[in-house]
Amino acid sequence: MTDPLAPGATIGILGGGQLGRMLSVAASRLGFQCHIFDPGAQPPAGHVAARVTTAPYDDLAALTAFGHSVDVITYEFENIPTAALDVLEALRPIRPNRRALAVSQDRMTEKDFLTSLGLTTAPYDRVTDRASLDAAIARIGTPAILKTTRLGYDGKGQARIAAPKDAPTAWAAMNGAEAVLEGFIDFSHEVSVIAARGVDGSVACYDPGENVHRDGILHSTTIPARLSAAQRTDAVLIAARILTALEYVGVMGVELFVTPRGLIVNEIAPRVHNSGHWTQAGCAVDQFEQHIRAIAGWPLGDGSRYADVVMENLIGEDVARVPALAQQRNTQIHLYGKTDAKPGRKMGHVNRVSRGLT
Ligand code: AMP
Repeated sequence: MTDPLAPGATIGILGGGQLGRMLSVAASRLGFQCHIFDPGAQPPAGHVAARVTTAPYDDLAALTAFGHSVDVITYEFENIPTAALDVLEALRPIRPNRRALAVSQDRMTEKDFLTSLGLTTAPYDRVTDRASLDAAIARIGTPAILKTTRLGYDGKGQARIAAPKDAPTAWAAMNGAEAVLEGFIDFSHEVSVIAARGVDGSVACYDPGENVHRDGILHSTTIPARLSAAQRTDAVLIAARILTALEYVGVMGVELFVTPRGLIVNEIAPRVHNSGHWTQAGCAVDQFEQHIRAIAGWPLGDGSRYADVVMENLIGEDVARVPALAQQRNTQIHLYGKTDAKPGRKMGHVNRVSRGLT
């Protein structure tokens, strides 16, 4: 597909959670239809999409039918099985591309890729068993964090190692899965850059946001982040470099640690990102529209910021605060249509907007 996708075309989205839902809304504003593929019944994106296929990711017949029914394929999460991608790639373009997925699905590959670009990551080492964990601890030192190389998210699949004596417990927490040991970074705060690259190679970055996590889950993103002008430029250049190296098409989230010695890349997410939800209230074109524009081969929108915003996630029972939040006139409310407010579940978010640009 080299021509821009015309309104009326169908965008296939793998994953029907809140990100797929907000992508569908943005796509429909641009005149596209969305077809969601999700293994779960009643996915949040299903409420706002033209079509939903409910099937597991190893149902190759369902994937084939899905592929034939859409014009381009994108996704809301990075852990899509390789066999599913093989089937789909033969049928329609997948954007962002497979390389971006391969790099971000595996923490070891991701770190090797980032360091090959000359970017700084935490010191890291591959861990495949107890002995290699001891060797990695001897090399990197403590404190450190052991993370499964694959399938970790929201702090899951991670164990802190304060001292070498914690090694057995940390290794047991990996359940035999291959892992990466990372040196603990003494950062002052965490920021992320939401960046987009179009089919034509143009790049647009949003202003970096400052992220606060609670229990490993994003709690809030504040824009502007506490960064010097030089750090802000660095953050944006790091993101642009990653997107260009991957020949990326779409929106990516790049998470960074801010330290006195400069910015350290924590991880990349090849998709729209929770820490980019503030763009819905701060920018003319938000991250969801930007992603749809990019994968549809349209020109990218402007990433300029027109307001200060604090995004706060509504997690689990936080959703009970909605009636009170609705009384706040500067607060944009987004609910994901999930009924069961389980602890740790992202139920929605709010964007609090203030006028003064700082
Ligand atoms: P991750 O899933 O890798 O993004 O890690 C979740 C959170 O754990 C990050 O947002 C940090 O707050 C913290 N964290 C992860 N890796 C490190 C590290 N190497 N040093 C210090 N904190 C970390």
